[in-house]
Amino acid sequence: MSLQEKLYDLFLLDQQVRGLRTRLDAATRRLTLQDKKLAQLRQQQSELSDQFKHAQAEFATLEHQSTDAEERVAKLREQMNSVRNNKEYSAMLVEVNTLKDEKGKLEDQALGKMTAADELKARLGEIKTQVDNQAKLVESAKTEVQSAKDEVGVQLDETTSKREAAAAEMPGDILTTFERLADHYEGETLGQIEEQDRRRREYTCNGCYMELPIERVNAVMVKPDELITCPSCNRFLYIKQELKAEIGAK
Ligand SMILES: [Zn+2]
Repeated sequence: MSLQEKLYDLFLLDQQVRGLRTRLDAATRRLTLQDKKLAQLRQQQSELSDQFKHAQAEFATLEHQSTDAEERVAKLREQMNSVRNNKEYSAMLVEVNTLKDEKGKLEDQALGKMTAADELKARLGEIKTQVDNQAKLVESAKTEVQSAKDEVGVQLDETTSKREAAAAEMPGDILTTFERLADHYEGETLGQIEEQDRRRREYTCNGCYMELPIERVNAVMVKPDELITCPSCNRFLYIKQELKAEIGAK
């Protein structure tokens, strides 16, 4: 096998590995995203639950205070019945009125807290639905990751070791360039030579669509153990056997 053919093999295997990995990566990314959303919703749920408990406790305290005031009013009224002294009676009446005012305010506050607690309860109900739905999404994302693993896992391992073997066949400096190009062009490492006009000897690189100097095209044709690059995009140039045969037969 010529160096150009070996490189082409490596290119194909590299693309297969990338394709297989893409599916698994996409599934894993989706799971991470759904997990994050679930954590955010659970955080909101826990905050709301705290607020709800707090509002309930405040409501209970206010109610208790209001009952206290009511009991004190009842007691004072009883005492007022047995008081003979006018001055004492008036003082008690003032206190009763103050307590009634206070009780009214406490009741208003308690009502406010109860409304707030009711609203929080409704929001808690909504967020619980959201959490439940999100938990289902996380479960299905997990299933997706697992099935992606089941489907591509073995194939990915096999293709990866084939790719490693093909990479080991490459001279070190070429492999380094190949890996750099592969990362840069997301696997589109090779520029295939395309014929635009045979008579006018016009050829382009299908990686960047730029016209290629004819010397480079010739070099690819006659030096299969050398790697020629496109002067515009630096991809390794590759020519299909059919085209090579056609040009050679002219
Ligand atoms: Zn190019």
